[in-house]
Amino acid sequence: MGAKVPRIAIVGAGFTGTMLAVQLLRKLAGPAKITLFDRRGAFGRGLAYSARNPRHVLNVRVTNMSAFDEDAQHFIRWLWANDSVRGGAAGVPPSGHAFVSRATFGAYVEDVLRAAIAEAGPRARVAQRVADAVGIAIAPGGARLALADGASVEADRVALCVGNFPPATPAPIAPAVAESGRFVADPWDEEAIDRIRSDDTVLVIGTGLTMVDMVVDLLARGFQGPIHALSRRGLLPQAHELTRTYPPFLDRERLPRGLLALTRRIRREVRDAASRGQDWRSVMDAIRPLVQDLWIALDEDDRRRFLRHLRPYWDVHRHRMAPEIAREIERLRAEGRLSTHAGRIASSGIEGGRIKFTFRPRAGGAERGLVGDWVINCAGPETDYARIRHPLVSSLLASGLARPDPLALGLDLTPSFQLIGREGRPTPRLYALGPPTRGLLWESTAVPDIRKQCAQFSARLAAELA
Ligand SMILES: Cc1cc2nc3c(=O)[nH]c(=O)nc-3n(C[C@H](O)[C@H](O)[C@H](O)COP(=O)(O)OP(=O)(O)OC[C@H]3O[C@@H](n4cnc5c(N)ncnc54)[C@H](O)[C@@H]3O)c2cc1C
Repeated sequence: MGAKVPRIAIVGAGFTGTMLAVQLLRKLAGPAKITLFDRRGAFGRGLAYSARNPRHVLNVRVTNMSAFDEDAQHFIRWLWANDSVRGGAAGVPPSGHAFVSRATFGAYVEDVLRAAIAEAGPRARVAQRVADAVGIAIAPGGARLALADGASVEADRVALCVGNFPPATPAPIAPAVAESGRFVADPWDEEAIDRIRSDDTVLVIGTGLTMVDMVVDLLARGFQGPIHALSRRGLLPQAHELTRTYPPFLDRERLPRGLLALTRRIRREVRDAASRGQDWRSVMDAIRPLVQDLWIALDEDDRRRFLRHLRPYWDVHRHRMAPEIAREIERLRAEGRLSTHAGRIASSGIEGGRIKFTFRPRAGGAERGLVGDWVINCAGPETDYARIRHPLVSSLLASGLARPDPLALGLDLTPSFQLIGREGRPTPRLYALGPPTRGLLWESTAVPDIRKQCAQFSARLAAELA
């Protein structure tokens, strides 16, 4: 009898799950059976790259969006090769300083998967299954995945690549508002967005990239009405600009000790850079490869301090808008069609069939009111797994196979991405990659981080299975 063929189940087939499958196909020496499960059938695209609107562009330059860490030009070459069929790639310069549509990137990832399956030939089988995984049981002989349709599937290893979850409803949102049919709890719920009329007034919770996305989406649908966006600090993402490469200024082996020293060091570098005519963006980009090391080097108190005080500033400088989108947002603000407000929501209710908010302005002074026909919640993905209401998450927590990380940024994981259970022990056979690893690495939501994670993890798994 031949050796048993290892079965690997990947739950979620967005960029993370797909790249894990691709890397496993490249690295597994012998036969294997890989099954990709995706509840939306978004193989290769996931939530981020399923956008149909061509004006939804990547918020990362083409040069940093290759599927392969060791081949930075891979996406650029694909764009050039596919220029005639995809459109929009003609202007991509060799530097890769360009922002193509997210749909184009989704098509690229689909192609990368197709090519990896073809290259692997009959050795490895890849199945793509449209199914919602709702539970996992671990036994000494293997794992068993329960699917929403009642079926179950056996696997030797399970990787959770479940991506981001919709935002939590902020506490001051009254049940009457949340259940009014005019509160869009999930900004990616296209059917809800379809109901907004072109002259309605829209209130948005959040002023980050998701809010920007929503505005772009509404305009593409012919929306003409006023938009009010509110967040605690009212900060908008900064715009990308063409920058010069900046020399590394932090030494991985001798990183500044503690958050205060680190912040001072970065501020000093930004000042020095400015005095030499260089932009702060270049300094931020130079830190990029070290961000995970910097996070790991911080103790838990400093991580909490960072989340409480610095995160909003980090987010708007790190996660930037494509320049053309930034210009559009500026134009809408200048025309008074988009207003941003800084403050905390104090109360909410329904008045005359419309939604009313009051908020306490950050600058102080009396409470202010906003009235609209719709509220779209763009407060950022819910990361606290204890509050996520998906059957798979609830069952993993209830059975003790998983627990949230101490800062409620994702799942608690070992450095090799194995889940840690309720009792603090690694859960055999079960792993998570991509956004759920935020607590471990902080930055693990963008393509450059995820592609590296998938390559490293699959090399380890392939060695283990060999
Ligand atoms: C709108 C948006 C734009 C972005 N733009 C960029 C960008 O320009 N550049 C960049 O680097 N990063 C960007 N990101 C970050 C993005 O998170 C990563 O690039 C990457 O797409 C994450 O992929 P993922 O597969 O982990 O998650 P997702 O794309 O969220 O995919 C997860 C998939 O898992 C499926 N799933 C979840 N639970 C289950 C289950 N129980 N059973 C079956 N299937 C399940 C979901 O249906 C989904 O298809 C963006 C994110 C968003 C939301």
